[in-house]
Amino acid sequence: MTAFWTEPDFDDHEVVHVVRDRNSGLMAIIALHSTHLGPGAGGTRFWHYPDPKDGLRDALRLSRGMSYKNAMAGLPMGGGKAVILADEARTKTPELLAAFGDAVEGLGGRYVTAEDVGISEADMVAVSKRTSHVSGLPAPGEGSAGGDPGPFTAIGIYQGIKAAVRHKLGKDSVQGVHIAVQGTGSVGGGVARLLAKDGAKLTLADIHADRAAALAEELGAKAVAADEIMTLPCDVLSPNALGAILDEDSIAKLDTAIVAGGANNQLARAHHGKTLFDRGILFAPDYVINAGGIISVATEYLARRDGVSAGVEEVHQRIANIPERLEEIWSKSDETGTPPDVVADRMAQELIGRG
Ligand code: NAD
Repeated sequence: MTAFWTEPDFDDHEVVHVVRDRNSGLMAIIALHSTHLGPGAGGTRFWHYPDPKDGLRDALRLSRGMSYKNAMAGLPMGGGKAVILADEARTKTPELLAAFGDAVEGLGGRYVTAEDVGISEADMVAVSKRTSHVSGLPAPGEGSAGGDPGPFTAIGIYQGIKAAVRHKLGKDSVQGVHIAVQGTGSVGGGVARLLAKDGAKLTLADIHADRAAALAEELGAKAVAADEIMTLPCDVLSPNALGAILDEDSIAKLDTAIVAGGANNQLARAHHGKTLFDRGILFAPDYVINAGGIISVATEYLARRDGVSAGVEEVHQRIANIPERLEEIWSKSDETGTPPDVVADRMAQELIGRG
């Protein structure tokens, strides 16, 4: 392993743990970017990296993202992320998950884990047998916080899109507003359903064309091919599939007033926020608008840790701050002529004591 502090993604991370358990074959990296606001919270990614350095980069980049996301969501949590370096066959055994649980427990609560790519709710239940510093577990009962974070992420994005439409287009409703949704999975599908109820004009796309077509049929929307959605004339483009979709080339071809969606790390490079800004396109920084899921996960964890019960109402109240936070960012951006992503990064850095 090379010295991680020479990596371009190293950003004064407090600590980076390399975990090895020979018996189970576990090889993992747990990166804690900042615990200034509380325990570093962020999911575990289970992925096969042909070059383990890419796993380290993911852990560094994603843990920093969680510091910013948790801070901007007003949560008493810092930023952390775990990456399990899966073998080529992606072998995931109970022993491996148990060893990972032991590693999390060994950090004594400085890191709180949950699901991410490649890790299911059932996996987290297995991890929870070895550590209490885990979240994203099934909700303990009707009306309690917990369970799949996807629907909560979708609610925050829906509210963020309405705030963007108000700010940029001066409209109090999305009725008749044309919104192009890229990705109709857990998040994008949820966003589309909520917008449809408000009478938005929807165009949907997914690389699984049948998925987009079925949802379009259900909602009375239109489906287009996945390669058409980024250039479609619309009022709002809502990316809810992959990261790094906004670069020089794609931004030049956008025909929208607003980009507001849940995909993580939409800007291919940091300076692409300015490219959007210079084109007069309003951008909702992704880690602000997509915080509904972590708000649910954190509310669930904090309640369990403190031995109190948390209802889903509490989650909704916290999510309701997302549009306010976005409005604050856009207002500062308008006043100072600074791209919204730069404003958001500065606010987050301030909040984690690195301003
Ligand atoms: P998902 O796997 O349920 O859905 C993603 C969908 O995008 C799939 O239907 C997939 O076929 C589609 N897709 C992939 N590439 C595409 C492309 N090029 N064009 C069109 N569609 C494409 O995942 P999800 O949970 O809905 O997450 C979507 C995004 O939101 C991801 O970037 C994820 O990191 C981010 N996110 C999710 C959550 C959450 O709570 N699930 C929270 C924060 C951020």
